[in-house]
Amino acid sequence: YSSEDAQGQADGQKSTEVAAKPSALVMCGPSGVGKGTLIKKLMDGSPRLFGFTCSHTTRAPRQGEEDGKHYHYTSKEDFEKGIEAGQFLEYARVHSNIYGTSYKAVEAVAEAGKCCILDIDVQGARQVRKSKLKAIFVFVAPPSTEALEQRLHGRNTETTEQIAERMAAAREEIATIKEPGLYDYVIFNDDLEDAFAQLVLVAKRALSGKTGNGSQSITGPVTLVAEEEPIKS
Ligand code: 5GP
Repeated sequence: YSSEDAQGQADGQKSTEVAAKPSALVMCGPSGVGKGTLIKKLMDGSPRLFGFTCSHTTRAPRQGEEDGKHYHYTSKEDFEKGIEAGQFLEYARVHSNIYGTSYKAVEAVAEAGKCCILDIDVQGARQVRKSKLKAIFVFVAPPSTEALEQRLHGRNTETTEQIAERMAAAREEIATIKEPGLYDYVIFNDDLEDAFAQLVLVAKRALSGKTGNGSQSITGPVTLVAEEEPIKS
């Protein structure tokens, strides 16, 4: 991760500090899986430990969304200028809009000593995996594709056609669980409390600066790390 590298080279002392910092938490998963709810629960419970990296997007704000909080809303032209200027750690075209995480957005959270939470799509996760950002990669999966479809119908925010589109996208995303070297953990969101308990354990690992190599050596079930205490902020 470039600017930290530069810092580390300029000041030997700093590089040890950088190494001790929390890893980022990269959260992937299909639309409607409850990823946003899990992230919100983690951040509301421990606001001093976690910070959301506010992405840029060319999509219009939805009702209730705030500029600078949910996203930095940007024109396509400005976004493309930013890409050319190398301002993005990662970016991707998702549902005909561009989304990206700027280095600045990561720095804003990291400089406060907090664990960065990135809510990004699979294409973005692959880019972050190749970058120098120290991170743990989590995929939030539905218990089944049928359950996801039911959930999308239940929330009544998409048309039947939109649901079909999202389901097609979800199937592709779910298939990436098997992609070698991508995710460190897969959390099946069957029951919100169970899924959250698993996320807390993973988040504790990120806070202590641990990373993974994407081999999913520790997947969903919490048993392997169950001795760890939940996070208290
Ligand atoms: P939404 O429009 O519903 O907020 O987000 C749509 C999709 O874009 C989600 O899968 C979300 O994870 C992804 N996304 C949001 N921000 C970013 C980002 O900065 N980079 C990438 N690659 N994907 C993002």
